[in-house]
Amino acid sequence: MAGMKPNCATALIASLTEATPPAMLMACRQAADQGADMVELRLDSLEHPIAAALAQLLSQPPLPVIATCRPVRQGGFFKGPEEQRLALLREASRLGANYIDIEDDVPPGDRPRGQIILSHHDFSGQPRDWQAVMKNLAAQKPAVVKLAFTAGTCQDAIEACRLVRDCPLPAMVLAMGEAGILSRALARKFGAFGSFASLSAERASAPGQLTLTQMKQLRWDHIGPATKVYGVAACPVGHSMSPAVHNAAFDELGLDAVYLPLRVEPSEEAFDGFLDAVLAAPWLDMRGLSVTVPHKEHALARVGPAKVDELSRAIGAINTVRIGRGGELEGFNTDYAAALESLCQAMGIEPAGLADKSVGVLGAGGVARAVVAALAHYQARITIYNRTPSRAQELAERFGAQACPAGDIPAMEHEIVINCTSVGMHPRVSETPAPLEALRRCRVVFDTIYNPPTTRLLELARQAGCTIVGGLEMFVRQAARQFEIWTDRPAPLPVMRQAMADRLEANPS
Ligand code: NAP
Repeated sequence: MAGMKPNCATALIASLTEATPPAMLMACRQAADQGADMVELRLDSLEHPIAAALAQLLSQPPLPVIATCRPVRQGGFFKGPEEQRLALLREASRLGANYIDIEDDVPPGDRPRGQIILSHHDFSGQPRDWQAVMKNLAAQKPAVVKLAFTAGTCQDAIEACRLVRDCPLPAMVLAMGEAGILSRALARKFGAFGSFASLSAERASAPGQLTLTQMKQLRWDHIGPATKVYGVAACPVGHSMSPAVHNAAFDELGLDAVYLPLRVEPSEEAFDGFLDAVLAAPWLDMRGLSVTVPHKEHALARVGPAKVDELSRAIGAINTVRIGRGGELEGFNTDYAAALESLCQAMGIEPAGLADKSVGVLGAGGVARAVVAALAHYQARITIYNRTPSRAQELAERFGAQACPAGDIPAMEHEIVINCTSVGMHPRVSETPAPLEALRRCRVVFDTIYNPPTTRLLELARQAGCTIVGGLEMFVRQAARQFEIWTDRPAPLPVMRQAMADRLEANPS
């Protein structure tokens, strides 16, 4: 039965690709320190893959060992004769390696004895009948079945989870590449034999393989059969701060949930295809999505205007989807509420207090649209400045605001100025969308940019004596509202704020 397999404590396996036995042994100890349960010794990465090296490696390894010597034809580094490779694996088995990984194209009679991981690799990216491949591997009755194929989309990663779940033997199915991360991170949920990770990003042994630290940050130790799954659908997705912020909140409240980066290609068809696959797999327990550029409009179209609030309809975009147990979809826009909250909190007013206040909005993109819609709702007097005047004009007409060219910014006079452009964002941190003299006429300056947390614009605004508000607060508050929508629990704001600050400090790019 699915999920009921022998040996179902899923191992976090450090795949080690060092060039010498001493380096490999050192890496084994590091893997143990970093919380790995098992190591895969990639013998094909050794400069001299010979029996003498094995004796050193297998005398007293700190963790159970998988011995692998991948030939070039299956994506590995071993270039020598096949007989030498198989002899090495036989010796590894004799010396006590717990598992031997052997490719399914090796004739059964040539395979080493011992606990065999029978593996199949496909880097072509072409879809195939993976179920048939799994069936064929399982029919040969190895100790463990392993399939690794290149994921074109998150749907492939969902399929990988299904294959593990349906396999009668202990199994690992890894969808390689950024789109496949879900299959690696959720291995425990589906009772896989294990999932591979590297000691560092540079030492990954397969595309999309995460580091041990990243796997732990994706709540590896807490994932089980009932874990609810959330994630951010974006392209690209590697830079997203959201997994760090949401997983820190799940940790704080001890919830059985995980939040993953989900690479969904930019088109509306790709977004729809992804949601179709999620809804067709209720066993995945996916309960919510954050949606970023360019999928905010696609998400609104998919959920349907009737299932979102009036302001989200006016903005024309949502950033949050809640998925019910039966697959019902609801949409929310937490960006505008977070922007309002951040601003009003800093000013010590309720949103109604924005009525008649003069606000200069710099920019006319997606964030500006959410900010302008919210300000217009509370009857602020809005002037939009943008590099491309026609975009400012279009937005202004829609929400009853005024439009001005960006050239008018130095002469602007507003009580509140909100930057919704990307000017000043990392790495061009010395730039500012407005000069000091214009800021001297303001009372409050809000920069929606969160990286860096204090932009050049905010530094100048501080010099000018203004109250300043950073984009980090808006980001954390939009995430906090999402968390509350999904979990019905108060979000741990300070923990989320700290997780965001730590993530930015650790990796500002
Ligand atoms: P967007 O839709 O691409 O809009 C970008 C805006 O910036 C446009 O108005 C664009 O003007 C303007 N712009 C870009 N480069 C410029 C330049 N060199 N000089 C003058 N204007 C320039 O992007 P978005 O999604 O609205 O995001 C805008 C910013 O908001 C991002 O940079 C990000 O830092 C911030 N943000 C914050 C949060 C948060 O939660 N705090 C969330 C998302 C985004 P044109 O119309 O002339 O191209």
